[in-house]
Amino acid sequence: MTQPDLSNLWMPFTANRQFKSNPRLLASAKGMYYTTTHGQQVLDSTAGLWCVNAGHGREEIIEALSEQTKRLDYAPSFQIGHEDSFRAATAVAELMPNGIDRIFFTNSGSESVDTALKIALAYHRANGEAHRTRLIGRERGYHGVGFGGISVGGISPNRKTFSSVLLPGVDHIRHTHSFEKNAFSRGQPAWGAHLADHLEEVIALHDASTIAAVIVEPLAGSTGVLIPPQGYLERLREITKKHGILLIFDEVITAFGRLGAATASDLFGVKPDIITLAKGISNAAVPAGAVAVDRTIHDTILNAAQSGIEFFHGYTYSAHPLATAAIQASLSIYRNEQLFERAASLANYFEEAAHSLQGKPHVQDIRNLGLVAGIELSSRENAVGARASEVFQKCFDNGVLIRYTGDTLAFSPPLIIEKSEIDKIFTTVGQALDSIA
Ligand code: PLP
Repeated sequence: MTQPDLSNLWMPFTANRQFKSNPRLLASAKGMYYTTTHGQQVLDSTAGLWCVNAGHGREEIIEALSEQTKRLDYAPSFQIGHEDSFRAATAVAELMPNGIDRIFFTNSGSESVDTALKIALAYHRANGEAHRTRLIGRERGYHGVGFGGISVGGISPNRKTFSSVLLPGVDHIRHTHSFEKNAFSRGQPAWGAHLADHLEEVIALHDASTIAAVIVEPLAGSTGVLIPPQGYLERLREITKKHGILLIFDEVITAFGRLGAATASDLFGVKPDIITLAKGISNAAVPAGAVAVDRTIHDTILNAAQSGIEFFHGYTYSAHPLATAAIQASLSIYRNEQLFERAASLANYFEEAAHSLQGKPHVQDIRNLGLVAGIELSSRENAVGARASEVFQKCFDNGVLIRYTGDTLAFSPPLIIEKSEIDKIFTTVGQALDSIA
């Protein structure tokens, strides 16, 4: 086949001109590997975009999709349903913390975040506290690209072009990253629980009665792998509970085994009120997302409505039959192959391998938890991201796909990874670091 014309496609979050002058095109994928259009095998150290948790090309999912599309290609989900949407909701609910078992389907992480924010506002109104409208995010937070998500998000390039039309009534608490205190921590850093107390200051400023919800990623991935300090999430939970504020955990990356448990909430033993999901929910075979909501929030919203529709929100493709088929098949694989347990059992090996790069040129910090690691490099003068981009290119040429944000390299492999493949990833990165200026 001839190479397609590259000019029509406007690629997301991509340096389009640079990419098109030297395109990297993937042709197929199986297990831990992509194959490029040049026939090169590339080890996937990022599970696509933190989403292919069971590895690529899983036959069980392919079969479920093929059967589903033959049987029921599409069903509207407004005022009518299909059985698999209920089955998929039950399968998701079974993996959520106790009581967070009402599931609203979306198609992406961004939609899950905007849906969760709306649910928080709807809840307070239904509960007789319509004055609670303020939303609190965190610096460096990534919550997708909807207007709600970028408003509570804390990544400035994602916000600046749209700054005058972001949601009103949003504030941010401090992020938790500190080189000085926590560089080269293994797992949760010991320092930083007190950073959660900044929330008390923000609450004092606005008054608790105006605040609907706080949203954070329990472990921030896209901003460059920030691991929550010990005791930090517990403290956020205490403060939000004390003030009647809902706590939303954005688990788009952390759910479905990434940290060696079904959810980060489960791993840390901190139960939020709402959890946003996407990515691993369907092993990324089909775009899918969901919001898992505490039953009492759901019931309050439903019971407050006189009659008819209780919550004016939804998507044409909420609970799309292909998504619900992929969700059920993916969750079955996770369970049958005990992939969350597998991730937990590999976490130490992964940690050792990542930290073996301490002392390599340009390495300023290494952070890890479960099957996530970040390696932060010092930046070149006036060229943030240039060094990481070069490492990315070298690794790709040497058969390993990594990710980078700014000058932080990020690793989040499928949970089926073998130890030899972990070695290959970090050896390749080490060689790349040795070879660049
Ligand atoms: N929330 C978090 C924590 C994410 O990491 C992401 C994507 O990386 C999103 C939301 C947005 O998800 P999507 O790209 O599916 O809209």
